[in-house]
Amino acid sequence: MSFFGRRPKRSPTPTGSLSGQNSLTEGDSNAKPLYLCSPFADAALVNGNFRTVVALPKYVDVMEWVAVNIYDFYTNLNEFYGCITECCTQHTCPTMSAGPKYVNLYYVNHDHGHDYSNSSSFQSLSYLWTTPERKQVSLAAPTYIDSVMSSVQNLIQDENVFPTKSGQDFHKESFPVTVKHVYRQFLRIFAHIYHAHFHQILHLRAEPHFNSLFAHFLAFGREYQLLEEKDIKGDPNTPVGVGLLWERWKSSGKLEKSPGDA
Ligand SMILES: [Zn+2]
Repeated sequence: MSFFGRRPKRSPTPTGSLSGQNSLTEGDSNAKPLYLCSPFADAALVNGNFRTVVALPKYVDVMEWVAVNIYDFYTNLNEFYGCITECCTQHTCPTMSAGPKYVNLYYVNHDHGHDYSNSSSFQSLSYLWTTPERKQVSLAAPTYIDSVMSSVQNLIQDENVFPTKSGQDFHKESFPVTVKHVYRQFLRIFAHIYHAHFHQILHLRAEPHFNSLFAHFLAFGREYQLLEEKDIKGDPNTPVGVGLLWERWKSSGKLEKSPGDA
């Protein structure tokens, strides 16, 4: 697994014109976000179910498989964020926002049998960063995301956590805890990009790639119990925007259904 030593670079921003707000999404705060609208919500590189993609290959250790996939998700997410990093600044994203600003979730959720009649109580969700002293602090999104990516890069390069030499085993107790934490942080970055930067993904015509990466990430996370449903959907009063995307893809058969997802 010598490829763990390869250090992904942040991609240069393809154009300098992405930072301005545009007519695609901004302006109507009550509108359903574009990533939940057709055809964008269903744009994908491949059709079908991600079950076969996430299945454990024969003769491969499950921790090794999880490690390789974590590395790939890290690399791909880093590349995507690199493309929009110019638009994710202290000014545009003063918090790690990931929840709806719009208030018509009652309408959206009603289709799934939820009755959020008090829709006016919805608040915008922003994730907090936990410091080493276990304090919860609000960080600007680029600071938050850089902190996640730097810490994950350090973990991946740490032979004690992600061993790459033969004869060295993954730590049976701490490795699952570590990768669950990493996975939750990656989910937050996906959620922020969908929430705050999907129009820039659209400008790049990258929504099929980004959706496919996220669907793969969700399917893998559920298959190997790296993602809790509550992390994907959030609290009913501060829902995560991508929770609705997850439900949409589940009901369309794109994601593997596990018994707990009924
Ligand atoms: Zn941002």
